[in-house]
Amino acid sequence: MSALQTEMLAPDAAGVARAAQVLLDGQLVAMPTETVYGLAGDATNDMACARIFEAKDRPRFNPLIVHLPDLEAVSQIAILSPAAVKLADAFWPGPLTLVLPLAKDHGLSPLVTAGLSTVAIRLPAHPVARAFLNAVGRPVAAPSANPSGRISPTTPAHVRAGLNGRIAAILDAGACQVGLESTILAPGVDGTKLLREGGIAREALEPITGPLSIETTPGKVQAPGQLSSHYAPLAAVMLNSDLSDPEAVRIGFGPSTGCDLSLSPSGNPVEAAARLFGLLHEADALASQLGKTVIHIAPIPEVGLGRAVNDRLRRAAAPRE
Ligand code: AMP
Ligand code: MG
Repeated sequence: MSALQTEMLAPDAAGVARAAQVLLDGQLVAMPTETVYGLAGDATNDMACARIFEAKDRPRFNPLIVHLPDLEAVSQIAILSPAAVKLADAFWPGPLTLVLPLAKDHGLSPLVTAGLSTVAIRLPAHPVARAFLNAVGRPVAAPSANPSGRISPTTPAHVRAGLNGRIAAILDAGACQVGLESTILAPGVDGTKLLREGGIAREALEPITGPLSIETTPGKVQAPGQLSSHYAPLAAVMLNSDLSDPEAVRIGFGPSTGCDLSLSPSGNPVEAAARLFGLLHEADALASQLGKTVIHIAPIPEVGLGRAVNDRLRRAAAPRE
């Protein structure tokens, strides 16, 4: 990845407007929130979402939290049950993330949900984050603004130390107040699950939710996407194929070599990541249309985002659970 000149932006009207413009251009902005700095990208833009994984050097496509300014914006992308509305009334804006069913026509990149039928949403309380989200006017995907496996950043200096030259801008509003990630809850018909401990304590939540069922496992992402065969197309998937089998739907990587589809015509792993989920759907549709039962996929180089692409492809190719 070529080094970017990371712009430092003041948390005033001009800085916020510039940050919003950079984000709407598909680039990444580190934004202050009351918990930790978030690495913000346009949640409706596949390439922007792929760049989030690239900048963090994340080895796999775990789902991203979507940041929104208000409940009206939430209702455009997710379904708010009465239990969710109760939690929203009590804790939003604030350090609480809710995992909710996706609304129809949500418009989010499949990289945000990692192909799940739910989306994690948060309304941050930080005034600069709120101004930024209002200026953007679109859902913003934002994991913590640190390289994968490193400590979450609570100051602009932390963000620079990890991501300088890898992101377009940092909206500098000084240190974060909470310094802990958001608490993640999944409200459901038979009670609410606690998926991650964070900025709002269990004791504060349970008067609203009733007893929480605890599903946090240190080091393990609580999402069905982690099951090895999840996101598998209906057709069988074979990796690192030589692509000579005319009975298969063939997905290439790089300049066309007579494949049916290509993950990235230019051989760019970021583009391959951006196209991955959509292309698997397309390949499946093509297979059923042509009466084929297998999808062959060309080798993807195990560098940069290629590793996360290969991780997801291995899950698609794994023996079905
Ligand atoms: P971070 O990337 O550090 O902001 O962490 C995001 C957290 O949100 C991870 O623990 C994800 O597993 C969790 N998450 C995001 N979306 C979902 C979802 N749809 N279902 C369950 N967990 C989710
Ligand atoms: Mg994180």
